[in-house]
Amino acid sequence: MISVVIPLYNENVLVNRLLEEVFLNLKSLSDSFEVVCVDDGSTDSTLLKLLEFKKNNKQLKVVSLSRNFGLQAALTAGLEHANGEYVIMMDGDFQDPPEMIPDLYNKIIETNVDIVTAVRESRNERFSKKLYINIFHKIFSSITEEKQISNAGNFCIMKRNAHQAILKFAERNRYLPGIRSFIGFKQDIILFERPDRLGGKAKMSRKKLFALAADAIYSFSKWPIKVCLYLGLVGIVVFLGAIIYTVASKFLGFAPTGWSSTFLAISFFGSVQLTFLGIIGEYIFRIFKEVQNRPIYFVKEFYE
Ligand code: UDP
Ligand code: MG
Repeated sequence: MISVVIPLYNENVLVNRLLEEVFLNLKSLSDSFEVVCVDDGSTDSTLLKLLEFKKNNKQLKVVSLSRNFGLQAALTAGLEHANGEYVIMMDGDFQDPPEMIPDLYNKIIETNVDIVTAVRESRNERFSKKLYINIFHKIFSSITEEKQISNAGNFCIMKRNAHQAILKFAERNRYLPGIRSFIGFKQDIILFERPDRLGGKAKMSRKKLFALAADAIYSFSKWPIKVCLYLGLVGIVVFLGAIIYTVASKFLGFAPTGWSSTFLAISFFGSVQLTFLGIIGEYIFRIFKEVQNRPIYFVKEFYE
C-alpha cells in the first residue's frame, strides 16, 4: 500500500483539485493506497471540503487537529496516521506536483533504496523568498554534522523502515528534512523544477519560515555554540595583547589617556557577551521546550 501524507492549512481554494490529481496519479499506480490529509486547524472550509470528498473516496483519511500547530507538527501527525508500505510526504499547494508521485514511486522501486527525495533544481518563486531559502540551504548543509540533501523540502517517498525510524523522533523543535537525512538508510534523489503555488497565499509566513530555519540549525548543528566559543577565544587573545600593551606602556611611561580604548573594549565585549547570552538563551529555551515534554499536536477527530 502507498500512503500520501498532506498537511493543509486554509487551502480551500486548492483542496478539491489537489485531491483529484493525487487520486488520479495514485490510481495509475495501484489500487491499494490511502491519502492522509491533516487539517492543521484551518479556519476556512478546508475540513468541510475534505469530508465532502471523502464521501465518495474511502481511501481519504482526515486527521483534524485541535488548532494550528504548524507544518512540522501537522506532517508528524500525518506520518503517525499513515500505514502504507511506502509513504509519501508532500505540500498541498501543487509546489510538490502530484504528477511526480509516479516518478517517485517508480524510482524507489527501480533503485530499491529506502528514501527518494525530490530535490529542487530551480524554483519559480518570488526573488526574495528564493534568495533567503537558498542562503538557508547553503548555510545549513555546510554546518551540519550529517550530510544533508540540499534544496529539498518535505517531498519524498520512503519505505516503512525509514518511516518507522522518523516516527521515533520525539523532539519538539523538529525539522523533518533534517531528520530524514539524519536517519541514514539508502537514499536517492530526483530533480525537479519547483513551481509556484497554484493559488491562495503562502501559509508559511516569513516568521514561521525563519523559526523553522532556526530550529533546523539549532537541532542539527553545534555551530551557534561553537561560534561563541571561538569568538570568545579570539577575544581573549586580542584582549591579552591589549593588556600586555597597557601594562608595558604604563611602565615605559607612555601610557595613553585611555578613554577611547576603555570605552571601545567595554562596549565591544559588552555587546559580544549579550549576543552570546542570547544564543545560550536560545539553547536553554529549546531545552526547556523538550523538558516540558508537551504533546506535539492534538487530534480533534480522526476520520478513518
Ligand atoms: N501548512 C500547514 N500548517 C501551517 C502552515 C502550512 O499545514 O501552519 C501546509 C500548507 O497548507 C501547505 C504546506 O504546509 O500544504 C506548505 O505550506 P506553504 O506552501 O505555505 O509553505 P512554503 O511553500 O512557503 O514552503
Ligand atoms: Mg508552498
